[in-house]
Amino acid sequence: MKVLKFGGSSIKTPERINQMINIVLKSMAIDDKTAVVVSAFGGVTDNLILISNLAASSDESYKDKLEGLEKRHLDAVQALINIKNQSSILANVKMIFNELEDVLHGVSLIKELTNKTLDFVQSFGERLSAYIISEAFKQQDVETDFLDTRTVIETDNNFGAAIVDYKKSSENIIQYFNSCKSLQVITGFIASTPNGETTTLGRGGSDYTASLIAAVLNIAEIEIWTDVDGVMTADPRKVKSTYSIKSMSYEEAMEMSHFGAKIIYPPTIQPAFENKIPIRIKNTFNPDFEGTLICEKTAPNNGYLIRGISSIDNISLIRVQGSGMIGVAGTSGRLFSALANEKINAILITQASSEHSICFAVAPKEASHAKSILEKEFQLEMQVHHIDEIRIESDLAIIAIVGEKMRRTIGIAAKAFTALAENKVNVVAIAQGSSELNISVVVEKKDEAKALNAIHDNFFNNKSKEN
Ligand code: ADP
Ligand code: ASP
Ligand code: MG
Repeated sequence: MKVLKFGGSSIKTPERINQMINIVLKSMAIDDKTAVVVSAFGGVTDNLILISNLAASSDESYKDKLEGLEKRHLDAVQALINIKNQSSILANVKMIFNELEDVLHGVSLIKELTNKTLDFVQSFGERLSAYIISEAFKQQDVETDFLDTRTVIETDNNFGAAIVDYKKSSENIIQYFNSCKSLQVITGFIASTPNGETTTLGRGGSDYTASLIAAVLNIAEIEIWTDVDGVMTADPRKVKSTYSIKSMSYEEAMEMSHFGAKIIYPPTIQPAFENKIPIRIKNTFNPDFEGTLICEKTAPNNGYLIRGISSIDNISLIRVQGSGMIGVAGTSGRLFSALANEKINAILITQASSEHSICFAVAPKEASHAKSILEKEFQLEMQVHHIDEIRIESDLAIIAIVGEKMRRTIGIAAKAFTALAENKVNVVAIAQGSSELNISVVVEKKDEAKALNAIHDNFFNNKSKEN
């Protein structure tokens, strides 16, 4: 059996869906049992979020936008399905939109949009795309089922980024796949609580759905089909002349995605890593290209010193410092426990060896909350000036340089900092992962593109090859 996942960009239009169908049919000629996980059609999730927010603020324009979305799905049915089979499918799509309309009407009446409602609204994207695509496969005389993952993937009720109950979900998935048709078209991204409430796995979460199903069923390889030639040495939207990475380790992929490489949703790596399942990233628009293999044993790196560079374009840095922190055991423990209790994620942490200051990065929307949590936690220390006023620095970006060779190679950091200095990029903070797999540099947001291009140039032009 194979698991293939297609992201929104690969199924944005009926033409692209037909391309995707060809890729799946070709793959089924080799191995007929196939699970295809799909995202919502490109842009639909963003649209659903926008429409929900408009409805919650009683902006009537949500109705037109909803109508536009319905038309887009009905048009897709008309383009993909034979005219004689269209009517029942069109009726089903209309029914699904009626349900969505009712929910949004409710949102506009009570003028409130909870995370729970937003998850429910977002679920329509994947439910519609997977349903329509499953019907398109039936046209090709392929024995196909549509699987709504809310019936098999169980999560907690952390709406917006729910945590999967692996044991329960495995049982359900195994039971379901025991007897099912050769092709399964599966909703990515969505799941449900034990009470049957709809949840989502976080933006970009369809990758994770695919990895989870592959891990549970112990599949030989996961294919993630997207709109670029695999994992590139940097985000091709931000850096000129990037290269496709032939292979990389699970750890390298985890670091790249954690630090902003959107190509793969970070939690996706874990189930594959634990079960040693290789992940291949391929380009729907260039299907014959081999793409990137994420696996345990990586191929040589073409002589390059690092694997890739990624970035997060907007972060805030919080500095906690004071003379009273020196030599006092447990300060950082208290600091990070206080943040964890409020579910605030520190993206990067640096501590000066003097122990005089700790500095960490958070998403900007969490910065002032983090500050007030710490002011409460260290209230007494602040009263006696053992800890100074907690400071937030905004409009910053993180650049992460990733590669396993760093463990054994001297001078990689120097090479990166030379590139930054030569381009007059000011470095605000630095962190090196203890695994020596990445060096992260905080720079001003306005310098992000310059920093990325300068470092990329210094590592990936021919001059900088190892041999
Ligand atoms: P999908 O719709 O297939 O899930 P995404 O938009 O989630 O696609 O991810 C693919 C995009 O990720 C690419 O189009 C690219 O702009 C972006 N990206 C960011 N960093 C990288 C990288 N290092 N390599 C490849 N793509 C990257
Ligand atoms: N449709 C969801 C999103 O846009 C999930 C995904 O595409 O992976 O975030
Ligand atoms: Mg994605």
